Amino acid sequence: MNEMTAPVTQAAKTQAPSKTLPDAQTVTSVTHWTDRLFSFRVTRPASLRFRSGEFVMIGLMGDPDPATGRQKPLLRAYSIASPAWDDELEFYSIKVQDGPLTSKLQHIQQGDQIILRPKPVGTLVHDALLPGNRLWLFSTGTGIAPFASLIREPQTYEDYDQIILTHTCRDVKELDYGRELVEKVRGDDLLRELMGDALDKLVYYPTTTREPSAKMGRITDLLRSGEIFADLDAPPLDPKLDRAMVCGSIGLNTDIKEILEAAGLREGANSAPAEYVVEKAFVG
Ligand SMILES: Cc1cc2nc3c(=O)[nH]c(=O)nc-3n(C[C@H](O)[C@H](O)[C@H](O)COP(=O)(O)OP(=O)(O)OC[C@H]3O[C@@H](n4cnc5c(N)ncnc54)[C@H](O)[C@@H]3O)c2cc1C
Repeated sequence: MNEMTAPVTQAAKTQAPSKTLPDAQTVTSVTHWTDRLFSFRVTRPASLRFRSGEFVMIGLMGDPDPATGRQKPLLRAYSIASPAWDDELEFYSIKVQDGPLTSKLQHIQQGDQIILRPKPVGTLVHDALLPGNRLWLFSTGTGIAPFASLIREPQTYEDYDQIILTHTCRDVKELDYGRELVEKVRGDDLLRELMGDALDKLVYYPTTTREPSAKMGRITDLLRSGEIFADLDAPPLDPKLDRAMVCGSIGLNTDIKEILEAAGLREGANSAPAEYVVEKAFVG
């Protein structure tokens, strides 16, 4: 079995971070899912409070300045993929081969340190939505990260009758992190004990756009054609009942916004909750 057919995970017991970096946290495990995707877990600062779905700035020290020899932190926004109750923090990351941060970050190993600025923010939070019955979580690529947090958050199951997680990637292997996560959530003893049958409210709808799979197509096309509603035996979007969170490329976000607005849903924010919220999975 090679690295690309099975995720490769290193695990370690949680260790206290040593403070050689500012805001240092220690990597406790790393899993490589494909040559473009990996996830990792780090220790959680005792003082860090966040709402499931929020993001923080994380990073590494940059290369020394050739003139002064000084190093500056190289930080990027990352959704916290673990839920607010977890003892550790999980992140799900792209590997951009010439990316300033991820060209280095992809090589982290258990016991290494990363920088984590403990100031969580974001709009993909329950507080930014008005009460509703059905929650759509639309994601592409690493945009599933905030929803990895929210589908492990008990409030998600308390607030809604049905939660539909859609995840669209080009290739089948790129769905593995989400697929395994959904399986883990459904089989998680602690969540089952807390939530009981409420966990069965979670519906998972993975699609691919390039490699053939059981369900192919862009989520925007599947929404516009009504195919997704037929597949799920679900009624069309209704602004009185439906709530949505969207996390993907700028193009996906724009297209889904258009579909949601056409159905009568309005964009919400922390300060003015409404029917849907959007966040970019990356800039560019
Ligand atoms: C609110 C927010 C939350 C984010 N959460 C995550 C997250 O949970 N996981 C994650 O991997 N990234 C996330 N990002 C993107 C992240 O901040 C960095 O862009 C990414 O880690 C790459 O950093 P870099 O320095 O290697 O390359 P950058 O110089 O930052 O990016 C180089 C190019 O790579 C592409 N790119 C960057 N990130 C991605 C991505 N995630 N998927 C596909 N293409 C990408 C873009 O075309 C970009 O122009 C988020 C961004 C924002 C704004």
